[in-house]
Amino acid sequence: MTTRRTFIQIIPVAIAALLGTRSAFAVDVDPKEAQASALGYVVDATKADKAKFPKYAVGQECGNCQLYQGKAGDAVGPCALFPGKTVAAKGWCSAYVKKA
Ligand code: SF4
Repeated sequence: MTTRRTFIQIIPVAIAALLGTRSAFAVDVDPKEAQASALGYVVDATKADKAKFPKYAVGQECGNCQLYQGKAGDAVGPCALFPGKTVAAKGWCSAYVKKA
């Protein structure tokens, strides 16, 4: 039986666990950070610098990239190139590889 005292003791632990889990992938990649900038990462694939990255093609976006680890339909998800951070599903960078 869960007593009130037990419940009160569990709450901070549960909150810490939730925050800890969220923080693992809570930080979105900033397009201005060095690695992202070097790769031409943008949160909106249609804004990719086509002059600098001519390999960009319409329809390419993080959500259908081989390195994207988010679930279909999610707005953001982890990318193998940016451990611990998320990229926009509609984003793009020059390391894009079409998902098999
Ligand atoms: S490697 Fe793929 S998923 Fe990661 S930022 Fe570049 S295009 Fe997006």
